[in-house]
Amino acid sequence: MDLSADGKEIEKIIVSQEQIQSRLKELAAQIVKDYEGRDLILIGVLKGAIMAMADLSRYLQRHVDMDWMAVTSYGAGTKSSGVVRILKDLDNDILGREVLIVEDILDTGLTLSWLTENLLSRGAKSVSVFTVLRKPDAATVKVEAKYVGFDIPSEFVVGYGLDFNQKYRNLPFIGVLAKHLYS
Ligand code: 5GP
Repeated sequence: MDLSADGKEIEKIIVSQEQIQSRLKELAAQIVKDYEGRDLILIGVLKGAIMAMADLSRYLQRHVDMDWMAVTSYGAGTKSSGVVRILKDLDNDILGREVLIVEDILDTGLTLSWLTENLLSRGAKSVSVFTVLRKPDAATVKVEAKYVGFDIPSEFVVGYGLDFNQKYRNLPFIGVLAKHLYS
């Protein structure tokens, strides 16, 4: 399967597999340094963060706990609904824990600002954010992502965990979805 080959589904690749992996290694080294001597629990946001959790956690040369949450902010389309709802909650208590949320993409920031507040209200000692991608709109909200893989333009992207109607998550790169598929 080479979906990038004919441009019918993937208009263009904006972040290659190699770029993703080398950036994750860099950020993992930074995280190890920042959290030296400290507790660390990664909370992956399902389903988009599956690839980032799997790769980032393997680059972290230290112990980490891992847990998952599933929330909705997008429906089947490509526009944020602004509604955040928990579909799957954490399995573990995070009282007093140092949390790093692992997200696929920061767009309007609605999801992450809600999630950060939610985790702090459960008594987490600290809550920081790792996101693979960040879109320009993120600048308008007060969510600070401490670790950002790549700043990308405001286009609908798929791959590396990101889907369109549950497809394309398994692409190892990030690409712009051809507009004719959703407009
Ligand atoms: P926000 O709340 O920051 O607007 O949106 C965050 C969520 O929207 C992400 O976790 C992701 O599920 C979805 N999202 C935002 N932009 C894109 C995009 O370009 N492609 C895909 N597939 N999902 C996106």
